[in-house]
Amino acid sequence: MARDIGHVAVVGLGLIGSSVARAVKERLPHIAVTGHDASETVRAEARALGFCDRIADEAADAVAAADLVILAVPVGRMTDAARAIAPGLKGDAIISDVGSSKAGVGEALRAALPDHAVIPAHPVAGTENSGPAAGFASLFDGRWCIVTPAADAPADAVAAVTDLWQMLGAKVETMDAAHHDMVLAVTSHLPHLIAYTIVGTASELEEVTESEVIKYSAGGFRDFTRIAASDPVMWRDVFLANKDAVLATLQRFNEDLTVLQQAIRRGDGAKLEDWFTRTRAIRRSIIAEGQDDPAPDFGRRH
Ligand code: NAP
Repeated sequence: MARDIGHVAVVGLGLIGSSVARAVKERLPHIAVTGHDASETVRAEARALGFCDRIADEAADAVAAADLVILAVPVGRMTDAARAIAPGLKGDAIISDVGSSKAGVGEALRAALPDHAVIPAHPVAGTENSGPAAGFASLFDGRWCIVTPAADAPADAVAAVTDLWQMLGAKVETMDAAHHDMVLAVTSHLPHLIAYTIVGTASELEEVTESEVIKYSAGGFRDFTRIAASDPVMWRDVFLANKDAVLATLQRFNEDLTVLQQAIRRGDGAKLEDWFTRTRAIRRSIIAEGQDDPAPDFGRRH
């Protein structure tokens, strides 16, 4: 049986926090939503956008009536946010978060709030934009949300967090936090690192001018620039927090890159074709799973 949730507090009102608040207001109008952000500018913007019932200036005030608190701040700010809400929490309030890495965040939240049920979660959904105006209620529709409770987490609190994400449109999977970090290192963190690298490299090549890079970007470069435009603070924190899994995945990537480098140098067309045929099949599986648009060019309208 899930614990009843009548009031949710969202701390951090950027892309993800504001999307959670919007989705709760739209899909679960019986649940009250209070918001807080450390930034006065963001609080003013959130008040003007009106996606919470109330925006509190202080974190502890924002959570005072909450049955569930969702921390939607950068991973490196989770401990600060947990300490700031601590004095205002109800005794039975559940603490969750939306951080992109999970093992370190879970440990930090449990250490900062030892008397509360901590149920970490990660909605695998987002865009390259940030801030309260970038959020939207349907962000989580059909996307996965990975919940990573500790083995001794209370079952009724896990059920409450699971139910909430399902009601916000997500499909929920429960996973060990360390396994989550390894999976996401492959599917999200490494692709971001590669995109940040390629876009940086291309802009610094001496033989090709920056205006040529921009002019001919439709050749593939453009698709990396979308990912490489993602929030610098959020991604700095993700790489620092998920260091071990990212470095292990990067090691494997470097080995595979060397294999392809050798195939090109040796003129081994069969190796290249075989490799690219396998990767094309992965793209087709992602479309078949409903995780991307089957239209050419990622469904962009021209
Ligand atoms: P965002 O748009 O930059 O929003 C984060 C907000 O939190 C900012 O307004 C920030 O204010 C505020 N903040 C920072 N420290 C705070 C604190 N101690 N107390 C209260 N507010 C604080 O970032 P986001 O994309 O929503 O990401 C939020 C979380 O979601 C991160 O943990 C990220 O890993 C995770 N996530 C992101 C995505 C994605 O695609 N973006 C997807 C899934 C999960 P300042 O700007 O003034 O610091």
